Amino acid sequence: MSAGQPPPATRITAGLEGAPREVDVLVVGLGITGAGVALDAVSRGLSVLAVDAHDLAFGTSRWSSKLVHGGLRYLAKGQIGVAHESAVERGVLMEVTAPHLTRPMPMVVPLTSSVTRAQATLTAVGLRAGDALRRGARTGAETLPRPRRLSATETLALAPALRRAGLRGGMLSWDGQLEDDARLVTTVARTAAALGAVVRTRARVLAVEAASSNGAGGLRVGLRDELTGATTTVTARAVVNAAGVWAGDLAEEVTLRPSRGTHLVLRAAALPGLGTSVFAPIPGETNRFVLVLPQPDQTVYVGLTDEPVDGPIPDVPEPTEPEIGFLLDVVSACFARQLHRSDVVGAFAGLRPLLEPPTGSGGSTADLSRKHAVLVGRSGMVTVVGGKLTTYRRMAQDAVDAALATPAAAGLAAGPCRTRTLPLLGAAPRAELAALEQHPRLVRRFGTDAALVLADALEVTGLTEDELLAPVAEGVPVTLAELVFGVTHEGAVDVADLLDRRTRVGLLAGDRALAEPAARRALALAAHHLPGRR
Ligand SMILES: Cc1cc2nc3c(=O)[nH]c(=O)nc-3n(C[C@H](O)[C@H](O)[C@H](O)COP(=O)(O)OP(=O)(O)OC[C@H]3O[C@@H](n4cnc5c(N)ncnc54)[C@H](O)[C@@H]3O)c2cc1C
Repeated sequence: MSAGQPPPATRITAGLEGAPREVDVLVVGLGITGAGVALDAVSRGLSVLAVDAHDLAFGTSRWSSKLVHGGLRYLAKGQIGVAHESAVERGVLMEVTAPHLTRPMPMVVPLTSSVTRAQATLTAVGLRAGDALRRGARTGAETLPRPRRLSATETLALAPALRRAGLRGGMLSWDGQLEDDARLVTTVARTAAALGAVVRTRARVLAVEAASSNGAGGLRVGLRDELTGATTTVTARAVVNAAGVWAGDLAEEVTLRPSRGTHLVLRAAALPGLGTSVFAPIPGETNRFVLVLPQPDQTVYVGLTDEPVDGPIPDVPEPTEPEIGFLLDVVSACFARQLHRSDVVGAFAGLRPLLEPPTGSGGSTADLSRKHAVLVGRSGMVTVVGGKLTTYRRMAQDAVDAALATPAAAGLAAGPCRTRTLPLLGAAPRAELAALEQHPRLVRRFGTDAALVLADALEVTGLTEDELLAPVAEGVPVTLAELVFGVTHEGAVDVADLLDRRTRVGLLAGDRALAEPAARRALALAAHHLPGRR
């Protein structure tokens, strides 16, 4: 694209310049839920404008445990429907829509001296039930192998850093793991844009109202371009509010009671040789664990907590020292080496968007966290909230179905939901991905689009392949190629977009500082793609 030309509609951009004033569906929020709604709606043949006040994956969606859950936790609570839905959606992501962004993750529950025989039996029964869920969802055992009991020697072979004293063995099972939650959001949003959705960051929805008293005239949406401060009104036949913990700001019928979940980031060397995730039993509790989750970039996440949050909702929630101390204590009790505060190289917290149960229902937020809710307000706006990353596709389907049933959407020519069989950009069967010869990190994060990422960066920058694919700093695996692509195709407009959301180097403050010059360089090299310079 040369300077002065508008960006192709299939690319995500920032601000509202050139955005349509009339659409079939307007989507508020570009976390996983909103990105999923945009993809669902556009793939049914509807015109879509999807906006985020900040950036793709700015909210809760980038602070998750990065798991594709099979729903075992919900089964334990008797929520069979939710559990089955989770298992089905896990299978859809891992086998059809996003094999490139997911992988099978082995998990070990070590049978330490603090786990009684009765608890061990309960865990074994639970894991077998989890496998039944997998089979019920028709996910292959080659994708997620069956669980099995391990001897102490086998357990230590998988996780040599575990405390040996009193270790009787372990239980091995499998679940799904995401390459990166924010990358999933970006890929869903990019897939929606590729099908024609107009996807804009830095565009805040200020208010939504019915355009006429009988609701038939559609909805009027007030928006502000956060780059210029200019306000505008868009008319939509349907509006889906997917603003996560902020959904209540636009919908009076929604009251949220968020709960904070904190993770720590450790260097892999702090728990050496970890070839599997470990569910560290919380001493004194039955069936509650702290998760120790090795990541591909030589880090380990440790999480997570569940703390109610009162008061105003922050843009970026902060972990507290007591939460950090709790996580370190539980992991230290299970591993040979005592972990210290100095082992924590990063920490992050996210807010679960839990719906306040209706007055008098006696329900708790924890119960509602497992389900998603679709609510239709007086204006006709549909709010979709709750659920999880794993079930985003189903949430989007339910939200669009509800939106199409509102009076304002009557007569819209929408096809049936197609997303269950619609691969995200870059998806391919695992064997095909394994055979790709492009840079391994790009394949892990972009699948078959790895070649496009490199070709784009070569064309835009005029640099060599070696320069574009080298780690941006010693020990920091991010490449200049993916940073440039973040600007040209994924709507990144500043260093924070590139380091905190298009890549996740921002999870480690030290590495982030090392990567900052490369992010600035990418922005300069692709400057003619930035808003105001196009
Ligand atoms: C600690 C933690 C761990 C988790 N781990 C997992 C896991 O491992 N696996 C899993 O499947 N699920 C997990 N979940 C659940 C999952 O992360 C969330 O359910 C999901 O990310 C919520 O996404 P969302 O799109 O609904 O909200 P968000 O990601 O918060 O998106 C809302 C977006 O709306 C935007 N917005 C707000 N107001 C406006 C406005 N007025 N105009 C325009 N835009 C607006 C925000 O900027 C934001 O980007 C976890 C949750 C937490 C808290």
